[in-house]
Amino acid sequence: MTEIGHFIDGKHVAGTSGRTSPVYNPATGEIQASVSLASDAELAAAVASAKAAQPKWAATNPQRRARVFINFVNLLNAHMDELATLLSKEHGKTIEDAKGDIVRGLEVCEFVIGIPHLSKSEFTEGAGPNIDMYSLRQPVGIGAGITPFNFPAMIPMWMFAPAIACGNAFILKPSERDPSVPIRLAELMIEAGLPAGILNVVNGDKSAVDAILTHPDISAVSFVGSTPIARYVYGTAAMNGKRAQCFGGAKNHMIIMPDADLDQAANALMGAGYGSAGERCMAISVAVPVGEETANRLIEKLVPMVESLRIGPYTDDKADMGPLVTKEAQTRVRGLIDKGVEEGAKLVVDGRDFKLQGYENGYFVGGCLFDHVTPEMDIYKTEIFGPVLSVVRAKNYEEALDLPMKHEYGNGVAIFTRDGDAARDFASRINIGMVGVNVPIPVPLAYHSFGGWKASSFGDLNQHGTDSIRFWTRTKTVTARWPSGIKSGAEFVMPTMR
Ligand code: NAD
Repeated sequence: MTEIGHFIDGKHVAGTSGRTSPVYNPATGEIQASVSLASDAELAAAVASAKAAQPKWAATNPQRRARVFINFVNLLNAHMDELATLLSKEHGKTIEDAKGDIVRGLEVCEFVIGIPHLSKSEFTEGAGPNIDMYSLRQPVGIGAGITPFNFPAMIPMWMFAPAIACGNAFILKPSERDPSVPIRLAELMIEAGLPAGILNVVNGDKSAVDAILTHPDISAVSFVGSTPIARYVYGTAAMNGKRAQCFGGAKNHMIIMPDADLDQAANALMGAGYGSAGERCMAISVAVPVGEETANRLIEKLVPMVESLRIGPYTDDKADMGPLVTKEAQTRVRGLIDKGVEEGAKLVVDGRDFKLQGYENGYFVGGCLFDHVTPEMDIYKTEIFGPVLSVVRAKNYEEALDLPMKHEYGNGVAIFTRDGDAARDFASRINIGMVGVNVPIPVPLAYHSFGGWKASSFGDLNQHGTDSIRFWTRTKTVTARWPSGIKSGAEFVMPTMR
């Protein structure tokens, strides 16, 4: 069986802790590899390598740092099929979806090729007599990233690309469920010209995360995962004097106004609700049709579409979605669907017993559609993270708006309408970080920033866009007087008073 270790100081390193975790093929349920779970000593070795390499990398001019990313982007494109297959085999998503995962990460690598421009700072000539004032953006030193299973290529790249482009060294702790792609990305970064020690991958679980959060040489931590862990990582990192940005779970609503194009809305709900088997933090999990007639027409359109979803292993290139990531996820999602039925929601498409011939041990759940869900129900409050769409009927626009406004999470939201007034009002009033107008999954592109509000995000700087450059650098402001030899006596008032 394949043993997946760590990638430290530019080389593969076997795990020594004696602790491992199985890596499954979610389509078959077979264990295909075993991943090492790092000890404190293994994390410390990665930090030591990063610490030794970082000063020289920070002193490398930004054009040269950018060139590593030019090479890396070319390598990603050249290895796209290989990376997508590796990703799908451990995650379960379709190959096309895996390519999307890689490409959304690649786009952030393209963005940071602009680092010479992005890291330019401010200068004021003559801020006082013979005084100039300027600010520097210097790397934080060593950054760390802790990533979830659902985007094993994109999210590591969202973190390490800006961190490294800014002159930092980086420790990546990927999800233990699909660790192979992050290791392969680190190999490709070395091939692209990155010096050893600047990108280290340490596999592990809570113990490796705690070692990161308490290591005195790590200055900044980026986390993406579920809300309880995001909250824990944010608090622990802050208590240990680290800068942190932590992104959590979601429950994304899509409001469908009576004037919306319902074919367009139904198609959008299918892709956004069931793509990647609903295992996306920007998946739409709640549809809110406004008015009974809109709701009835929408359900009529959705039912046959959900029933005819094509579900298959990643080797089926016609599949719309694959299995869930683990048996545990499958059991949890089925349990939540049972709960919805018990709570009185109407399960109009029931995919709980879906079985795929030849893949009976795979972690599949068929597409499920609930109607008449209400805000008190657990299936409404909880992030299901599976192929389950809940329809909550709203009487009018204000009632529809109120639902995402009052929900605990605030990652993404969408409105489908032909009414510009309603769309504008919605975008302005909603208390959610990413808003789509006739766009179901409004994930901003690399040059804008990504992040939710409320319990979907802890910390104040988002991922990618210019926020990422701010997160991975520290500002230093220099006030300089030249020529230095101007004679003046001791001054006891503040200089700006003169
Ligand atoms: P998770 O919280 O279980 O794991 C995320 C990371 O935290 C992994 O690296 C894991 O090893 C580590 N971890 C797990 N338990 C820990 C603990 N007790 N202490 C410290 N570290 C721990 O999340 P997941 O199941 O891998 O990913 C799915 C979740 O991520 C969903 O809630 C989804 O919404 C969220 N997500 C959010 C975003 C976003 O940008 N807001 C993006 C993608 C995924």
